[in-house]
Amino acid sequence: CGIVGYVGPSSQVADERGTSSGHDALDVLVEGLRRLEYRGYDSAGVAVLSNGSVGFRKKAGKLLNLERELGERPLPRSTTGIGHTRWATHGGPSDTNAHPHVVDGGRLAVIHNGIIENFAEIKRELVEKGHEFASETDTEVAATLLADIYNDLGDQDLTTAMQAACRRLEGAFTLLAVHVDHPGRVVAARRNSPLVLGLGEGENFLGSDVSGFIDYTRSAVELGQDQVVTITADDYEITDFHGNPAQGKPFEVLWDA
Ligand code: GLU
Repeated sequence: CGIVGYVGPSSQVADERGTSSGHDALDVLVEGLRRLEYRGYDSAGVAVLSNGSVGFRKKAGKLLNLERELGERPLPRSTTGIGHTRWATHGGPSDTNAHPHVVDGGRLAVIHNGIIENFAEIKRELVEKGHEFASETDTEVAATLLADIYNDLGDQDLTTAMQAACRRLEGAFTLLAVHVDHPGRVVAARRNSPLVLGLGEGENFLGSDVSGFIDYTRSAVELGQDQVVTITADDYEITDFHGNPAQGKPFEVLWDA
């Protein structure tokens, strides 16, 4: 029931500027998930992009279980990642059903809050195309659909693929995706489920709400209904599900965390 995303500066950029403004993605993600714990959850997981691969850990139970797992099997330092706390709707709370769902031969990681209402129909189509599923979740169907569209389009544009996937999906969803082809980029979408962008200096954040990044910035943009946002360390772009430019609602977070 909570979502966090982060893209920080690559180390070269940080060095040139002589600043250390960037964070290790994992620190931002775990801290953000802790802040979002109040929303309730039964599992937690994170994925980071590092050296051309997706590293991920996910565990049923409290955030502490995930942190223990990360202690035993650490993930590499990274500038780009996504984090999730799950409130199971399709498939019970288990390590396998926890998010992220990593598909496309380990190249794409997706997290999701909400319910994909037409997942059964889409799953049938994807199974007919030869796709296999590891979990019982509606989310893995959305992730596999995104991978399928991404590979069919063949233009290496994750944002366009996300827009197309969202046009197929019914229900309520906040989706975040990272792909090994696009280090330094998180693509997100929302319909009937919240998503807020946090604007830092040389780093950008995504959250179910501002608690996901309140420790890092107070400058935020609320995404509108049926919007896709692509973030990099120093830029963001919002569109509708058809690729037309769109705008969110900027605001300052005034309350103290
Ligand atoms: N429907 C998804 C699942 O059961 C996401 C649930 C959530 O909002 O955390 O995995």
